[in-house]
Amino acid sequence: MFSSLKSKLIFFITLIMAITAASIMYVTHRYVGRAMFEAEEASTENVLQLVSLNIEGKYKKLLSDKIETIVRAERRLKDLSYFYLSGLEQFSLICENGILSREEIIEKSINWLKTLRLQTAIFFVFDQHGLILTHSDPCMNGTYINSLYDMKGRSLASLMQKSVFKDTGEFAVYLSKKSGKNTSSKKLGFFVQFPKWQWTLVTAIDFDDIEAETEKKMEKLVEMLKNTFARIQIAKTGCAFLFNGKKNMIIPPRWCQDMNYSTLKNAQTGNLLLDDLIRTAKSNSDAVYYIKPADGNNLFLEARMSYFKALDWYIAAVVPVQEIRQPAKNLVTRQSLIIAMIFFGASIVAFFLMHRISRPLNILTSYAKELPSHDFTAEKEKESPLENLPGRFKDEVGRLAESFIFMKTELRKNIQQVIEATATKERLQKEAAEESNRAKSRFVANMSHELRTPLNHIIGFTELILDKEFGELNPEQEECLTEVYNSSNHLLALINDILDISKVEAGKLELDLSATNLPMILKQSMNIVKDRAMKHRIELSLNIDNIAGTINADERKLKQILYNLLSNAVKFTPDGGKVCLSARQTMCNVRTGLRETDSKDFKIILDHFEKSEIAHSECNTAVEISVSDTGIGIKKEDLERIFNPFEQVESDANRRYQGTGLGLSLTKTLVELHGGKIWVESEGIEKGSTFRLVIPM
Ligand code: ADP
Repeated sequence: MFSSLKSKLIFFITLIMAITAASIMYVTHRYVGRAMFEAEEASTENVLQLVSLNIEGKYKKLLSDKIETIVRAERRLKDLSYFYLSGLEQFSLICENGILSREEIIEKSINWLKTLRLQTAIFFVFDQHGLILTHSDPCMNGTYINSLYDMKGRSLASLMQKSVFKDTGEFAVYLSKKSGKNTSSKKLGFFVQFPKWQWTLVTAIDFDDIEAETEKKMEKLVEMLKNTFARIQIAKTGCAFLFNGKKNMIIPPRWCQDMNYSTLKNAQTGNLLLDDLIRTAKSNSDAVYYIKPADGNNLFLEARMSYFKALDWYIAAVVPVQEIRQPAKNLVTRQSLIIAMIFFGASIVAFFLMHRISRPLNILTSYAKELPSHDFTAEKEKESPLENLPGRFKDEVGRLAESFIFMKTELRKNIQQVIEATATKERLQKEAAEESNRAKSRFVANMSHELRTPLNHIIGFTELILDKEFGELNPEQEECLTEVYNSSNHLLALINDILDISKVEAGKLELDLSATNLPMILKQSMNIVKDRAMKHRIELSLNIDNIAGTINADERKLKQILYNLLSNAVKFTPDGGKVCLSARQTMCNVRTGLRETDSKDFKIILDHFEKSEIAHSECNTAVEISVSDTGIGIKKEDLERIFNPFEQVESDANRRYQGTGLGLSLTKTLVELHGGKIWVESEGIEKGSTFRLVIPM
């Protein structure tokens, strides 16, 4: 998989990038994701705070408006009371001056008080017994203040007796019940005493009006809040809602307006949902989770709570949990996408870069691989892409290529020097060997010549004795001498062979060519082996076919060739076998030995030779001579070998036969000296053999 530098580098770059990407994703997911989640939660919290602040602000405004109204009313009530007091003071002064009696003046002052008409305020005076002396509502005249209660339900009359009024008067909110009616109305009254007559003056206004006004403002406030809540958006679908401590939904959630929330349960806890929300708000807990009601998607909601004590209001900011996590998820997805794209792009760029970097390295590698089999002996070097690298790359690759080229040039130089040195050495060795061989051959030739002279004497004198020139011989003598004669002849033949071989090696064997009568030579050769053949009951036959007559050959050498082949045939044919000598005229390529008639191969070879350096003249009229026998045969693998000097096929069969292994070698040399060719054909052991030779005519 990583067999190349390119794939390794790409793998490592990819690995580093993958680790980086994984780390970024991990960090994003773990820290940034969490931070975003927290930010989203904080924003929900902020919305909640803002809503709370908004409500608080509006509530304060409402409160301050109410207080202002009350202060204004109080001031008015006070002014009125002081006015009445000053009037009564004047009346009391008249009494003190003795102009009118106390009863008269009281009556007059009551009458005066009755004449005073107030549009929106109530005015009444009661004495120390709580008897209302005058009241802006005439039907209250003559009644007691027992029907007045404070907000805690205590009788105002009893309180009046106990309490000590400030001289400047005091404000109080009380409940007034009209006589004969069950309903009571809330009043804000200013109570101030007129100590001279132990009267108490009360100016009051209807507090329910102020409250109704506040209530109206409150409704407006809720309306405004509804608008605000409608515009609030937390995450995608999150919203806020408002309910009070009595579990009345003041501003319901946007998504379920008409639901009865007071009975709705939180499936998570089994409690009433609003109870859970109230508990969370009061305990300042983080959030409460519940499944969105009337929604089949099982959407989880996270509610953050705030409690506004002044109004006993609970504000909830609700958002689907999924949506809080969504931004973090989106970020991770977007980031993954960008990383994947960068990853992909970087991989492609890396691949092309690696390809660019590795291409010259590949050239260098393949060149290094090819170097051992490079032919440094060739005259001219082949153009290689390596040569262009130093020009194209000025970096390490270029320098490496330069070193390669330098190495190649040096190698070529060295190898050629070695080749030249070896060639010279071999030539010298060959010349020395040839010279020593020639010297040896000269020596053997001389020796053979020296050996032949005494041997000829031995043969000559033995012949004379056997011809009984020196008298009769007894049979033992004759047998012994015959043996001497035969052995001497054999020895002479041997020496002749050695002499001939030596001559060949010494380059001294020359042919004495003349017009030779081939049929006659063939017959004479047959006669030489005739006796031996008869002795072994071997049938000899001679076929001469279409021979023109004479042949240009060395007669003695031709006889020697035929004698060697025939004597081998007789020697290696068991008793009762057959030996046949045949001769015919043919067209023949003397190099290949193929005849025109043999096959179409001959033509092909001829064509081939015509195109090559072998001249057409090599195919000419020739005589083909064959010696075939029914003898021991020759193995296929030995067919070539037997023509080598001293080569004898080692087998049990021919070990019985005498021989030196020189005959066929010499025969081959003699045939080739005549410009011919010799070969042997045999189907194998015990299948006989045919020695065939062609000699141009
Ligand atoms: P030799 O003196 O042994 O006959 P040759 O050179 O004449 O030497 O022959 C070489 C070898 O070739 C022989 O030893 C023999 O094994 C084989 N040979 C030659 N002629 C024949 C033949 N006609 N049949 C079988 N084998 C032969």
